[in-house]
Amino acid sequence: MWPFADPFATLRAGSSLRSGLRLLTATMCGVERWLLPPACLLCGEPVPHREGDALICSLCRVRWRPIPDPMCKRCGQPRLQELECRLCQAWPAGLARVRSAVWLEGSSRDAVHRLKYEGWSRIAETMALAMRGLEPLTPGVSLIPIPLGAGRLRARGYNQSEYIAAALGRCTGLSVRTDLLRRVRETPTQTALTPEARHANVAGAFGAGAIGRDHFVLVDDVFTTGATLAAAAAALKEAGAARVEAVTFARANHDLGARS
Ligand SMILES: [Zn+2]
Ligand SMILES: [Zn+2]
Repeated sequence: MWPFADPFATLRAGSSLRSGLRLLTATMCGVERWLLPPACLLCGEPVPHREGDALICSLCRVRWRPIPDPMCKRCGQPRLQELECRLCQAWPAGLARVRSAVWLEGSSRDAVHRLKYEGWSRIAETMALAMRGLEPLTPGVSLIPIPLGAGRLRARGYNQSEYIAAALGRCTGLSVRTDLLRRVRETPTQTALTPEARHANVAGAFGAGAIGRDHFVLVDDVFTTGATLAAAAAALKEAGAARVEAVTFARANHDLGARS
């Protein structure tokens, strides 16, 4: 017997497209589990039976290096002295605090890539486990994944940050809101830009309708300069949010904070 629910039955029954898509995603996760590779997705070694159906073996996971203390209270960048942080001083107001779980390097970079470009959605569960103890994830906050622009979402077919936020919601019990924040403007890729140019690139890229004076935590896969998170936080604050923080799975190691 086909072991998965029929997602199209929901669509035919006239339920919302959103719940149909959610069911389809769940079904695809089931198919992914069914077609599970017998080896760790990152190192290729067999995954021990006791680790269940993990996509990433425990040896790869312990190689992920957590971000060490001491760090900037606001942006979470490790630093050696109590000098002004050069990384977050250019941020617009609104983003109160960011924390990341691990450095972006080696197998953590590989994990990000596999989730973002190859659609291995359940890698998000392993990432969420690494993120669950991050300080902004306090009881009562709502998680908001950084939205993709419509064009990019169409091309990729899914939003990797939404997968991470959903997995984080499941393992922390926090609610996930994908209906509050939207990208109102597509932004060119940021990779080649300086931190200052990145802020200009994403300024005004996000919009939010009127929201309650709640406490929100943005969720993204990678922190590079914080420009995207800061622009998203500014939109939420403008819409009425009381406090906005952010968590990411990985953090690019560009040593800006260490030099300050
Ligand atoms: Zn491995
Ligand atoms: Zn900082």
